[in-house]
Amino acid sequence: MSDCIFCKLAKGEIPTTMVYQNELAAAFADASPLAPVHVLVVPKAHHDNLLDGVDAQTLMAMVECVEQVVQRTGIKDSGFRVLTNVGADAGQTVNHLHWHVLGGKRLSDQLA
Ligand code: IMP
Repeated sequence: MSDCIFCKLAKGEIPTTMVYQNELAAAFADASPLAPVHVLVVPKAHHDNLLDGVDAQTLMAMVECVEQVVQRTGIKDSGFRVLTNVGADAGQTVNHLHWHVLGGKRLSDQLA
């Protein structure tokens, strides 16, 4: 999708703080972090959200990004949260699948 900002960030067409990337997915810093570690993991191909035809290989590439992010940012052992918002009622503001990886502090136990 030519006007999607996350497509451009994932492909390096816009500068960002890239934490890790592989062939199919990328992990970059959230522009408005909600925790000491707040990284977004996205597929390089455009998918609107989690249920938008994402293939297993891409999902595994995203999981590998999460593993690398938590290792590289030092939050693997203390605990972290991975979440994705799907649709307006959930608060999705960017219509390109992204997983929030949050950690580096004691996170709120409230999910809603
Ligand atoms: P959502 O509300 O789950 O869709 O999350 C969108 C996230 O994208 C928010 O946490 C924003 O701070 C983040 N975001 C929006 N634009 C940019 C950007 O250009 N670079 C990095 N993060 C962004």
